[in-house]
This record gives sequence, structure tokens and C-alpha cells, in this order.
Amino acid sequence: MSRPVDTVIAAAALFLGERITTSSGLREHHSHGQDTQTPVMPDAVAFLETSEEAGKLLALCHAHGVPVVPYGTGTSLEGHVTPVRGGISVDMSRMTAVLEVNQADMDCRVQPGLTHRSLNAHLRDQGLFFPVDPGADASLGGMCATRASGTNAVRYGTMRENVMGLTVALADGRIIKTGGRVRKSSTGYDLTRLFVGSEGTLGIITEIQLRLHGIPEAMSAAVCQFERLDEAVETVIAIMQAGIPVARMELLDDVQMGACIAYSKLEGYAALPTLFFEFHGTPAGVKEQAGLAEEIAAGFEARGFQWATDPDARTKLWRARHDAYWACLALKPGHQGIATDAIVPISRLAEAVMGAQEDIRASGLTAPIVGHVGDGNFHTVILVPPEPGGLERAWELDKKIVARALALGGSCSGEHGVGIGKREFLELEHGAETLAVMRSVKAALDPKGILNPGKMFLN
Ligand SMILES: Cc1cc2nc3c(=O)[nH]c(=O)nc-3n(C[C@H](O)[C@H](O)[C@H](O)COP(=O)(O)OP(=O)(O)OC[C@H]3O[C@@H](n4cnc5c(N)ncnc54)[C@H](O)[C@@H]3O)c2cc1C
Repeated sequence: MSRPVDTVIAAAALFLGERITTSSGLREHHSHGQDTQTPVMPDAVAFLETSEEAGKLLALCHAHGVPVVPYGTGTSLEGHVTPVRGGISVDMSRMTAVLEVNQADMDCRVQPGLTHRSLNAHLRDQGLFFPVDPGADASLGGMCATRASGTNAVRYGTMRENVMGLTVALADGRIIKTGGRVRKSSTGYDLTRLFVGSEGTLGIITEIQLRLHGIPEAMSAAVCQFERLDEAVETVIAIMQAGIPVARMELLDDVQMGACIAYSKLEGYAALPTLFFEFHGTPAGVKEQAGLAEEIAAGFEARGFQWATDPDARTKLWRARHDAYWACLALKPGHQGIATDAIVPISRLAEAVMGAQEDIRASGLTAPIVGHVGDGNFHTVILVPPEPGGLERAWELDKKIVARALALGGSCSGEHGVGIGKREFLELEHGAETLAVMRSVKAALDPKGILNPGKMFLN
């Protein structure tokens, strides 16, 4: 007797043809993301091209109880795309169309496989940009599903603020539209926000309506270095509390800065605690913001601002920041990385970051600190020693950093999401009753539990 998944594969081949495959190379590629969880191969990989195909495939999987795991570009960091119970990995990389750009309203509609960098390349000539910029060139569908953010979030918000509406194929194959093109609406439950951050557990996102922003008239970037990490963090807190509308403000500790200097060939900087800034606005506005920030930094013993005003220097600086994860891995070849993602209210940032630094020292591990500190969010990339017990030591350190963030009123993940790696913290963070409500939502939309099973909840 054939397995349910074989029945689904055979039936799906009738409308997907060779776009559903059991090739071992492709199954292996879809067995993991960018994480240290144990890879598990899906039974098949399906490459979708339309919303209707998503609906038809889901209806089949629903009828036969076969797991479905949406797959964007596989850059998520918590085991999100690992098909822990087998089934079909649904690859969205062929759905990359920009369906419309409404220049006058500053919004657009795209397919979910398009990446944020490709969207920005498409928009550049129209004077518009999409601000959410995770370090990896992730798909916009994956970014919706993880409620991603990046360096610009301090000024422009995360996917939560920049997704206006969605088309979603539900577990039973129905296709719904949520939200719309207006800047606000007071009608009904906010299903768009429900699907943003749902990690493929509630539906497959097949179209996305995004808010766009005008490319600012003036932009300038600056680097500012400190002798001590606490001085850099106190500068961040003071700048946020002063209400200076920085576009980007990123912290790198001395180890991370050393790694970036080596990996990205940054010249003229020392391996010291560092802040990267960017200011957007009119020329006068940018000058004023930068002047105020520089004044505050000087009060915390900063060495002064080094400016990167021309576009090439700015691009080099931010590319170095976006490559920080790879720069960490290059510090110790053969080590894997676990990226922590704690976030705290801005007033508690110094306690969280300095506490993390103490934990890292005590652990004896190498774990550079880098982060979107304007939001209170920072990462440590814990380098996992390739020896027995290495992974356990790394997870132990991760847990300590999370425990402190929660105790300070924060969250275990500001932007990477739950996946497998953060499931154990969900109840601690939200409470048992709130978690029970989340489970009811899951049960209502996916009663057979076929959508990305084994993620978000512990069982
Ligand atoms: C070097 C590096 C830097 C990073 N920097 C950042 C950062 O600054 N900020 C940040 O937020 N993240 C960052 N990340 C993490 C990662 O890029 C984000 O989580 C990103 O949003 C994942 O997108 P993806 O297309 O790779 O999704 P995937 O990894 O393919 O999938 C992620 C989750 O989304 C689901 N999913 C994917 N597509 C869909 C869809 N169409 N419908 C429904 N569910 C779907 C999957 O099932 C899975 O649960 C970084 C990762 C790396 C490797």
C-alpha cells in the first residue's frame, strides 16, 4: 500500500509536472536552514508558480494528512524550514514577480519568492525603496513569516509595520485576501498581523502588499568608536531618549568589529566597541540629527565621528554590517554559529548587553556582540566548538542571555522568530493562557496540524 505522501506526490504531479520532485539533492537542500538543528529531508520538494497551485497542493495534503513546510530562501536561523515530520517542502523561489507598483500611493504588490534586494533594485529608478533589510537576501514571503526586521527598523519599522495585506492559501486549500491598500482600516480582526510572524504554521503566503518609502533627499553614515562597551550602549540609550530620528544605529563590540575589519577589509578603524549610524532627511535635517548624535556620543567619551558620505563608502560600511554573521564564522573556521536575538526595553539595554558580555566571558566561548540596538535588540553569534559538549555549552549561553532579557521585560527573539530553537521560551514569555489562545488559533486554521508541524509550540 502506498504511503499518503506518495499519493499526494502522484496527484500533485498532474498539475505541477516536474515541479514536484523527489531528487535527493533538492531534498537535502531543503532539509535545513541556517541553523544547528538536526537536518531532516522532506519526502518531496514542490516548486510553486501561482496561488491556485498552493491551494490545490494544500487541499491534497489536508485530505491525506501530509505535512507541508513553506520554504523561501532558507536563511532562517532557528530550524524553521526543517521538515521534522517529512512531507512536502514548498519552495517559493519561482514566484518572484513584482505584480504592481503604485508610485503615487507608495505601495506595491509582489510574489513571496522575490527577495528584498531584488525588490529594491526594481524600485530604485522610481525614487522608492522598501526598508526592511535582514542581513541575508531573504524572500519577502519568508520575511513576512518570521516578522523580520533589520538595520532600518529603528526608523521605518519591521515587517509588522510594512505589510499592508496578504493573499494566503489556507491549510484546507481555501485562498483568502487580508488587509488592503489603505493606510488604516478599522474593520474586522487584523488577519494580516496574524499571518505576519506565523512561520508557515497557518498558511502559505502567495502575494504581499507592501508599504514603500521615498528615497531620502540626503543620507549620511558615520562610524563612532569607544574605549568601553558600556559607553557605546549608554550613547544609544541617550540618543533614543532624546528622540533623534536615526535611520540606523548598530552596535558592534570589539570582537565583532575586529571580525568585520578582517572579513570586509574595512580600513581606518580599530577593533573597539563601535556604533554605525545612518541619518536620513533633508540636507539640513541630516546635519542637525548628526550634530546632536555626535554631541551625545562625545559626552560618553566617543573618539568622534568618521563620516562615510559618498555612496560607495556607505555601501561598503553597510555591506560589512550585513556580512557580520559570516565575519564571525570566519573567525573560527569549522565552528557553527548560534545567533541569539534578545530584545529589551531601551532603558534596560545596558544591563542586557553588559550582562551578556559577562556571560560570554564566563562561558569561555567566542561570541561577538552585534545588533540593532536602537530597537533594544542585539545578537551574539555564539561560535560552537566542534567538540563533544560544544553545542550544549553554546545553548547554555543562549539560555542565560534569553533568561536575562525576559527578566528585564524583553523577548527571546526580536526578529528571528521561534522555529524549533526558541519553542521552550514561549510559555515563559507569554504565559500559559496566552499560549493556549495561540494554540486555539492554530487548531482553527490548521485542524490537522499539517502546516510546518513541530515549530512554534513544543508539541
Ligand atoms: C547572515 C544572516 C543575517 C540575517 N540577518 C537578519 C536580520 O538582520 N534580521 C532578521 O529579521 N533576520 C535575519 N536573518 C534571518 C533570516 O534572513 C530571516 O529570518 C528571513 O526573514 C528568512 O527569510 P527566508 O526567505 O530565508 O525564509 P525561510 O528561511 O525559507 O523560511 C522562514 C520561515 O518562513 C516560512 N515561510 C517562508 N516562505 C513562506 C511563505 N511564502 N508563506 C508562509 N510561510 C513561509 C517557512 O516555513 C519558515 O517557517 C539573517 C540570516 C542570516 C543567515
